[in-house]
Amino acid sequence: MNYSFKALLQNDRWLSPAFVNTDANGSITYISNHPKDNVRYEQVDGYALPGFQNAHSHAFQYAMAGIAETHQTGSVADDFWSWREAMYKVALTISTDQLEAIATMLYAEMVKHGYTQVAEFHYLHHDKDGTPYDNLAEMGERLVSAAQTAGIKITLVPMFYQKGGFGIDPQSHQRRFISSTIEDYHKLLGATKKIVAPHSHASYGFGIHSLRAVAPQDIISSLGSVAHDLPVHIHISEQLKEIEDAVDYLGKRPVQWLLDNANVNHSYHLVHATHLDSSEIRGIAKSGAHVVLCPTTEGNLGDGIFPLKAFQDLGGKWSIGTDSHVGLNPLEELRLLDYGQRLTTHHRNTFTSETQGDSASYAIKQSLISGRAAMGNKESSYFKVGEPLDAVVYDANSPLIAASTLDNVLPTIIYSSDSTHCKGTMIDGRWIVQNNEHVKKEEITTSFLKALADIRVR
Ligand SMILES: [Zn+2]
Repeated sequence: MNYSFKALLQNDRWLSPAFVNTDANGSITYISNHPKDNVRYEQVDGYALPGFQNAHSHAFQYAMAGIAETHQTGSVADDFWSWREAMYKVALTISTDQLEAIATMLYAEMVKHGYTQVAEFHYLHHDKDGTPYDNLAEMGERLVSAAQTAGIKITLVPMFYQKGGFGIDPQSHQRRFISSTIEDYHKLLGATKKIVAPHSHASYGFGIHSLRAVAPQDIISSLGSVAHDLPVHIHISEQLKEIEDAVDYLGKRPVQWLLDNANVNHSYHLVHATHLDSSEIRGIAKSGAHVVLCPTTEGNLGDGIFPLKAFQDLGGKWSIGTDSHVGLNPLEELRLLDYGQRLTTHHRNTFTSETQGDSASYAIKQSLISGRAAMGNKESSYFKVGEPLDAVVYDANSPLIAASTLDNVLPTIIYSSDSTHCKGTMIDGRWIVQNNEHVKKEEITTSFLKALADIRVR
């Protein structure tokens, strides 16, 4: 497959025009602003950006996206913890086939919005009564299969989930999540490694659900055993109550406890990390760990606003994720992230560093490079020979974009566009979505609607 784009975003500038050749696997063999002799190119009248990386997903929660908005009137609080009860109910009803159908629809929608890889923070491991499936990684295998059908790449991160809270035994409604011991978790991790091995679109990572979900000594021991370079994902400091409970039980705030008890480094991806004191902000930045920010979900759940500006000023690195999938648009995640800072600091320059003053370029760079790291991918070049052609392409004829000089195209896309301005998304050099239509739209939608009709949650 060979394409000529109006322009292709490189790390430091647009390449325009851009001619890109790939081999049969979709790996790039040639990039230049001149065509290669005797090669036929498919002309694409659009601007190609590297595919977005979705660094945090719980696929099954897509079944309840947008329906947790009926709040009791009066003084009854609707917050993260009441939302979690509703989420548990959904988790208990879903079969293997239904999970696959829901995840396939979700992943197809992600591709439509320009995501080309997802990190699945996976904790729905066992059968409905809590019994492990014969294949310990059965549910994970369904997610890998869903990603394959949807055409997206996946990093499956099975979660170690052991407790019902700090020092509390797991509760009945958490029975599908539980690995009782480190050995049990390692069996699950081993089974996960085995099921992703045959697939070029899949990889795996290591995960602790949260400090409240695993006993402290087991967190320390299991993190000490992580294979070199495997990405490590953990939910942390999302809710104020969780911090109070951590201080009571562990004697420290969650991030401080983790920094003091684990070798937190560039392989770590701290999800949310919303509530930090200044020494924790410094500690994460200094450790080289990344944070994964999920602005639409964090906003929807009323979590709080991550201290992004202070973190970035110390060189902190971040990616984005869609978490509960109440929103699936990466542009919306980036904008909400930026605007939360603008609204609270009264300054407009959120996404800047000492060397880069262009917000759109900065947002793309951070979310891409840390997002790839969350997948276990260290590649920092946006597009390069030998790497897969994974791209989201915006329509050069969309009026605001068409009226812009090249210097203004990227900010116009990031700040003033939406997915209707996408020409499509290609993964491994093939169009998976074109003109807002997924290549397998019909079969994916039919299975999804059947699954949703059967589980009756919406
Ligand atoms: Zn999450």
